[in-house]
Amino acid sequence: MKVLVTGGAGFIGSFLCEELLDKGYDVVCLDNFSTGKESNVKHLLQNPKFKLIKHDVTKPIELETDFIFHLASPASPADYQKLPIETSMANSLGTFNMLNLAKKNESGFLLASTSEVYGEPLVHPQKEDYWGNVNPIGIRSCYNVSKRFAENLSMNFFREYSLNVRIARIFNTYGPRMRLDDGRVIPNFIVQSLTGKPISVYGDGKQTRSFCYILDMIDGLMKLMSKESLSGEVVNLGAQEERTILTVAELIKNITNSNSKIVFKPLPEDDPARRKPDITKAKKLLGWEPKVDLETGLEKTIEWFKEELKK
Ligand code: NAD
Ligand code: UDP
Repeated sequence: MKVLVTGGAGFIGSFLCEELLDKGYDVVCLDNFSTGKESNVKHLLQNPKFKLIKHDVTKPIELETDFIFHLASPASPADYQKLPIETSMANSLGTFNMLNLAKKNESGFLLASTSEVYGEPLVHPQKEDYWGNVNPIGIRSCYNVSKRFAENLSMNFFREYSLNVRIARIFNTYGPRMRLDDGRVIPNFIVQSLTGKPISVYGDGKQTRSFCYILDMIDGLMKLMSKESLSGEVVNLGAQEERTILTVAELIKNITNSNSKIVFKPLPEDDPARRKPDITKAKKLLGWEPKVDLETGLEKTIEWFKEELKK
């Protein structure tokens, strides 16, 4: 079975390629390396079942596929705000191209969507049937609006062509292979703590997120691919432990035994105040829930960052 992973040289994509190869699939990894790196999949290049293609999903491509994981899109707020048009286009035209490829090959299609589709949520925790509260023209809209459009386009292909489409709404995920300069909160706090720089908490740090360790997320995505008759379903995937950002700063400072000071910086525009997934649906349909607690996941992630900083 041939599986295409777009954005496969990124943080989540590279772990997904690895897991798919472990399970015996033939894997094509397609990436334009805008926010990902070839080095993330370098260790897979010797595997005859693995193929890496440099390609931008906004351009059509002919490939044989049985299943497509569509992950190609900048994902860190710092990245997508630097690349707003590229982000909008990866999720609109890029998703259109990948859905057309899936249609042509009659293959399955999994869209990596995001908790950002809920925007500044007025419902807590967020359930799949909540429609969200999104600023259509704000600085996050290149990402959250284009992901909402990608969900819409995927559902159009499901309804009009009976394409086997699944949508994962991924909540904050972290782990090894996030770039040191990725800009998301966990890499920022770890690098700052390990290098003795001030730990930059935005706003008062009372905003919350729920952080899922990468291997739990991969398990959820694999289950969403493998389970039969989930066509047309949208499923939240994310952790249940909701933490304030200030707590996360203190936790990382403690684990790294750092002398860094915690400093407060302005809260970026439209930064959601609270975020936690309701994963009742994932538990029921996939038998999935995260297993790695935040402390354990952070310890593993910090070990990896320590090695990266030595390079
Ligand atoms: P990442 O930036 O590490 O990976 C994205 C990958 O997509 C990179 O390798 C990048 O080079 C590639 N890419 C971007 N635009 C492309 C294009 N036009 N053509 C081909 N490749 C392109 O980010 P990630 O955290 O691994 O996120 C992967 C996916 O998961 C994204 O779709 C993101 O929206 C989604 N997601 C991630 C999180 C998270 O917390 N990590 C949360 C919600 C959703
Ligand atoms: N954040 C922070 N300091 C940083 C980076 C991020 O306080 O150096 C905050 C950010 O304002 C947000 C939360 O941490 O409230 C998560 O940010 P991230 O960029 O990781 O992802 P988001 O969930 O906002 O997409």
